[in-house]
Amino acid sequence: MARTPPEFERRRPSARRRECEGPNPHRRQEGIPVILAILAAVFFGGSLGGDGGGLDDILGQLDGARQQEPGQEVALDEAPDPDADLAAFAGVVLGSTEDLWAAIFADAGRQYRPAPLVLFTGSTQSACGGATSRVGPHYCPLDQTIYVDLDFFRDLATRFQAPGDFAQAYVLAHEVGHHIQNLLGISDQVRTLQQSNPPEANELSVRLELQADCFAGIWAYSEFTQDFLERGDLEEAISAAAAVGDDRIQEMSTGMINPETWTHGSSEQRVDWFRAGFDSGDPNVCDTFGNDY
Ligand SMILES: [Zn+2]
Repeated sequence: MARTPPEFERRRPSARRRECEGPNPHRRQEGIPVILAILAAVFFGGSLGGDGGGLDDILGQLDGARQQEPGQEVALDEAPDPDADLAAFAGVVLGSTEDLWAAIFADAGRQYRPAPLVLFTGSTQSACGGATSRVGPHYCPLDQTIYVDLDFFRDLATRFQAPGDFAQAYVLAHEVGHHIQNLLGISDQVRTLQQSNPPEANELSVRLELQADCFAGIWAYSEFTQDFLERGDLEEAISAAAAVGDDRIQEMSTGMINPETWTHGSSEQRVDWFRAGFDSGDPNVCDTFGNDY
């Protein structure tokens, strides 16, 4: 990516570092026809139930949980360590997603609330519980915060064979996608549907994940239009999307592939939805809750 060090200085990311421990995120999902209505309402300037009603209600409920975890955090500027460049890069990428989604929300007459990013090594605590390196990058809806283990970034290049800064950026943009879903109430709807229809819980989870991939593609398109993409970047993101597909991970860990247990989608599905976002730059194409997905 053509995001340069001077830019690291220009942007003061909302990233924080934390050295400490924890569990699972990606566990909040939700529904189908209603989801599209909400998506359309937000992106086309409609209303979510009155003057700030639904959306603000959701955010209001979450405010209480937000104060939970002070943790042991160090301001990014005060953390001189070998991960500094990686942390600065993550901050720049996060900042670019904030610019993009703030503009999209503003077009729809809404205000975007950025998600803080916590970078950690080893383990950390979130309102969703403990997070360890085994969990991987994730978004916790309760504290509306993105958690990324810096070791996972390095694993992308080695274990998952998806090297490159844009691969890391894709992962971050995907987690921001979950924040968007949370802000729009999509996650809550999916979770309600999962609870009322357990046999479809995994499929709903896959649809939610694929939508986050599509949102990541929207961000990649925005980088492209600003000339931040370099040769090979798109391939890096696509190989990362493929590398973290459930089929690939399942094969690596068990040697077998069983679509019934997927919660994130196949490599092909993930690449397809990322590309759908990238090719159009339009969030409204990210309808992963339709018949075909
Ligand atoms: Zn995800």
